[in-house]
Amino acid sequence: MAINRRDLLIASGGALTAAMAGRALAQEAQGQPLMGNPTLPLPPQQRMGWAVVGLGSFAVGQLMPAFGDANRSRLTALVSGNPEKLARLADTYGVEHTYSYDDYDSIVDNPDIDCVQIALPVGLHAEYTIRALEAGKHVLCEKPMASTSAECEAMIAAARKAGKVLGVGYRVHFEPTNQAALAMIRGEDIGPLRHIRAEHGFQADPENWPPHRWRLEKQLAGGGSMYDIGIYGINTSLMMLEGDAPMSISAVYAYPRDDARFREVEGGVDWRITMRSGAVVSGSSSYCYAPYHSKQTYIGAKSSLRMDPATTYYENALWHEHGGRETQIPAGAPYTQFAGQVDAFSEAARAGRPHATPGEMGYRDIRLIEMAYRSADQGGAPVSLEGI
Ligand code: NDP
Repeated sequence: MAINRRDLLIASGGALTAAMAGRALAQEAQGQPLMGNPTLPLPPQQRMGWAVVGLGSFAVGQLMPAFGDANRSRLTALVSGNPEKLARLADTYGVEHTYSYDDYDSIVDNPDIDCVQIALPVGLHAEYTIRALEAGKHVLCEKPMASTSAECEAMIAAARKAGKVLGVGYRVHFEPTNQAALAMIRGEDIGPLRHIRAEHGFQADPENWPPHRWRLEKQLAGGGSMYDIGIYGINTSLMMLEGDAPMSISAVYAYPRDDARFREVEGGVDWRITMRSGAVVSGSSSYCYAPYHSKQTYIGAKSSLRMDPATTYYENALWHEHGGRETQIPAGAPYTQFAGQVDAFSEAARAGRPHATPGEMGYRDIRLIEMAYRSADQGGAPVSLEGI
């Protein structure tokens, strides 16, 4: 029988696992938010049990497979409105418990579910998050957190009332290439960040790709490209500017106004955030870009970083631009971000401490986007973000 690294770790107990656990365990021991995939695998019965709600392209393509790489989490339940798909995926993944949206509230009686991952269209995030919290479960809600900041407030209040952990699925915080960039920004080589440029977009194609259909309906999407893809630029840039604070935002709409796709939501925004330090983050989000854009540039006082792509599932790349040269910086495999995220949330929930990307962060970003829309509606005048 082939024994893999995981079996070896489980079988070998204390000494080997302690040696392998490294940074992640040190973070846990210090009570810090877990930022990497913990290397200590727990036996299944000791792992946190997860329900995934909404079995769409992201859940099926990325979230569910991540449990195969996870060390602290196991998939125990699925929730879907499609009974055939539910039965098929439960069989494929060996998942014991299945629910429809109608009997979703009965998860309250299932001790195999500790955490719930919401992977529904944005307009349903608040309702299904709050129902899970009221059922006594911790919730990791996909980005963007909700349709409005008022909904985010209600979600945060529900988590506090239930005494449960609420996180937002900002997977990039757990992605090794971005973690390498953050480590360099924290170090000596880059110097204070002066400017960040963020460009994120793709061509919305509702005819050929069904998940793009709800993204163009305001009630289900909350907003347009800023909600779906521009949020990566905002959230990732603010991650790199830790300790700084956004002071104002200005924005203009940037998309063809006669394009029938954008009757309900905007198709593109150019935005600019001024930080307390004087640094500026400027970016764009679009449903009209080809090819897929996911680019971040970090210009420091001493040298710069370039990421292209910056926030994808599998292929991020980081270059250090210094002294007229460009050096590619190696980092771990981007796909580990999914297991890293789910395990980090499991451990936060187990310990009852905030997740590294908490509900408050999702709330901040929705408020920021609301202010970007306000600025764009006023023709681009800066809107104050003080207190956000
Ligand atoms: P999909 O349209 O592919 O999946 C959404 C699923 O939600 C559907 O398959 C369906 O599942 C369920 N659903 C319930 N009600 C509705 C409804 N009225 N209309 C449409 N679907 C409904 O979307 P995605 O998987 O692309 O996105 C889901 C969530 O994940 C969104 O919040 C999105 O922003 C987020 N996301 C996050 C990413 C990341 O990198 N963090 C990347 C991509 C998406 P069922 O048939 O099982 O009921």
